[in-house]
Amino acid sequence: MEGYHSPQLDVEVRLNTNEAPFPPPEEFVSAFLEEVRRVEWHRYPDRLAQSLREDIAAIHEVEPQQVFVANGSNEVLQTICLTFGGSGRTVATFEPTYAMYQQIARTTQCKVIEAVRDSQYRVALSEMKKVVALERPNIIFLCSPNNPTGTPESLEVIEAALKISDGVVVVDEAYGQFADFTALDLLRGGEAVDSLIVTRTFSKTWSMAGARLGYCVAPAWMLPEFEKVVLPYHLDSVKQIAGRVALRFHDEMEQRVTQLGAERDRITEALTLMGLEVWPSQANFIMFRTTPCSMGGDYVWQRLVDQSVLIRNCSNWPGLSDCLRVTLGTEYENNIFLGALKEALA
Ligand SMILES: *Cc1c(COP(=O)(O)O)cnc(C)c1O
Repeated sequence: MEGYHSPQLDVEVRLNTNEAPFPPPEEFVSAFLEEVRRVEWHRYPDRLAQSLREDIAAIHEVEPQQVFVANGSNEVLQTICLTFGGSGRTVATFEPTYAMYQQIARTTQCKVIEAVRDSQYRVALSEMKKVVALERPNIIFLCSPNNPTGTPESLEVIEAALKISDGVVVVDEAYGQFADFTALDLLRGGEAVDSLIVTRTFSKTWSMAGARLGYCVAPAWMLPEFEKVVLPYHLDSVKQIAGRVALRFHDEMEQRVTQLGAERDRITEALTLMGLEVWPSQANFIMFRTTPCSMGGDYVWQRLVDQSVLIRNCSNWPGLSDCLRVTLGTEYENNIFLGALKEALA
């Protein structure tokens, strides 16, 4: 088995890992430092991260008992696999999608069923029905918007999965704030479903990839189950503070999302005008294929690197021949990227 890694190079413009291009506001940093001063370093942290869970629950209008917080949403995904997966259990993924689903499923001894997306990278209802009927997966991973394609999942398919599967359905919304659609609506109120888990992260829209903080919203009955498999005191005091302070700057987060949304429209249009095949994105990255310009993905990627611009090369991933994925940067970075790409395609 190979480890997961996202290749890094020392370049001027780094648009390869879907981080936010801006740090959180200066006021966040000072408020955070002020609170950290009061940490009781000799004591263990609040094991259940009660206050942080209350604050997260408040922004989503759910109950704190529905929120589980961990070290990045990757740890949330791992916790889900430890809880519901394991030897003799199966996990279904819809490829191409986020590679960590398979990685985490395998390291937690699950059998992986690789279902496929259609030519536009959507999950077809028929494929969902087929996989559930044939394989009875214990865990289904959906990703909305999907990484690396940027396309959202459809509500119809999510609802079908919830209805026909007796396993749990995970909708990874790492980029949820950029999208028109959220599955969180299904977890509120009287008709809330009992097998849906929606994951979110502070790594992207909250500009806090360095903090390693993520969470999920789930039916309340799952929380004690997650607590059984997670290590005691897994979430340190400093991280709990970072999360709580970050949430006070919700408006600033939304402003960044709006700003990046405008850049997304601009870059999508520019790429389309260059003659590339571009997928309409609802995330902070855009996937495109180079072959309509009669050039291979590897070649274009290398020509960008030669100009000190790093994007993600998906060309050799199954189902993504000659596809590249660019993360939205600042306007300045995006302009450098567009200039370099024009040069590469010339
Ligand atoms: C970036 C990303 C995550 C975030 O992982 P963290 O561990 O929270 O940093 C999760 N899912 C997808 C699809 C992602 O692209």
